[in-house]
Amino acid sequence: MRLEGRRVVVVGGGIGGLAVALACRQHGAEVLVLEQAQAIEEVGAGIQISPNGLCVLDALGLGQGLRDRACIASAVSLRDHSGGAEVLRLDLSRLAEAGTYHFVHRADLIDLLVEAVRASGAQIRLLQRVVAVRPGAPAQIDLANGDRCGGDLVIGADGLHSAVRGALNGAVAPVFTRQVAWRAVVPNLAGHPPEARVHMGPGRHLVSYPLRGGAQVNLVAVEERSDWVAESWSHLDAPEPMRSAFQDFAPDVQALLGAVERPGLWGLFRHPVARVWQGEGVALLGDAAHPTLPFMAQGANMALEDAWALAACLERDPQPQALARYQHLRRDRCARIVATADGNAWKYHLKNPLIRSAAHLAMGVLGRVAPA
Ligand code: FAD
Repeated sequence: MRLEGRRVVVVGGGIGGLAVALACRQHGAEVLVLEQAQAIEEVGAGIQISPNGLCVLDALGLGQGLRDRACIASAVSLRDHSGGAEVLRLDLSRLAEAGTYHFVHRADLIDLLVEAVRASGAQIRLLQRVVAVRPGAPAQIDLANGDRCGGDLVIGADGLHSAVRGALNGAVAPVFTRQVAWRAVVPNLAGHPPEARVHMGPGRHLVSYPLRGGAQVNLVAVEERSDWVAESWSHLDAPEPMRSAFQDFAPDVQALLGAVERPGLWGLFRHPVARVWQGEGVALLGDAAHPTLPFMAQGANMALEDAWALAACLERDPQPQALARYQHLRRDRCARIVATADGNAWKYHLKNPLIRSAAHLAMGVLGRVAPA
């Protein structure tokens, strides 16, 4: 094991950071995770784990744990907002390996990862906010509490506002997309089937899918707006603005909205994919490298892919070559996914009724002729 005896410090204990901590530990590294929060936890919301993400969880030995906690998705259904008519249905049982697309509560996925990281012998330290990183051999880290530490490799898995990304790329100002998203988890009172429903309306869309054995439904609702909202889920909203933004949506959507209590509200910002993903003793992954809009459900799946790819590169080659190869393997793929997610909003949000009808017709035809 090439990583044996090497000290890896992971900044950030989200899905990407925990996955890379486990992957590096499994390759023999001594691993320390520094997390700024006082507990590693996720506020209530769901996440879609697609076959690419599941492959990584399987390789980490966590696939069964995910399956035990998740609902298997049978389809993705795109619907017109008002009558709720189905425009396009992607039957996921036609995937080469059926049963590989899942809906899981984020808290359940985080618990699974934390348990595995701790059991692997990697250390997780809480209340450790990294304020500066200096590439080098070893790379150096400054913490907000005045402490310093270093490692053979520092991995920046510190999300949207990454301090590590800043050290490699300088500061970049994100641009408000003029869209906000609410998210909420509600009881599954009306028997939402095990599918992701995208309800598409003019300037708005709402995604719903079940969680936790079908007991709950996850809602993400996006609306175009001109006023600015902070880029943080810690902002809670009253339920009325979310309900009124979607009041002309179909009755099944109204029933779900009726159960919303205190939704999270988030401003959606566009950040460029980082130009530089690695430097001497430093690498980036997940949202720190490629923040994405949530219109393809791929942010966490890409973070899982990054984690596996980075550990595999480090296992194969000496560190400088491994880091260069990692960036080469990952950057273009992630940039393509981020660009596709960017493009999805306007497809969901068409405002002109004639264009919307024509586009929905075309989507339906494409859905019928698309290969399995
Ligand atoms: P994060 O989850 O942001 O973790 C970063 C961690 O670093 C945090 O714990 C943070 O506290 C810590 N941290 C930050 N700064 C510091 C610091 N300076 N020092 C120490 N610690 C620090 N993706 C999917 O794949 N499927 C989906 O269905 C999906 N749905 C989504 C729905 C919505 C509404 C949104 C907004 C996103 C969605 N995503 C989805 C995207 C996904 O949530 C993110 O891409 C993913 O969580 C990124 O993981 P990460 O580990 O890179 O970053």
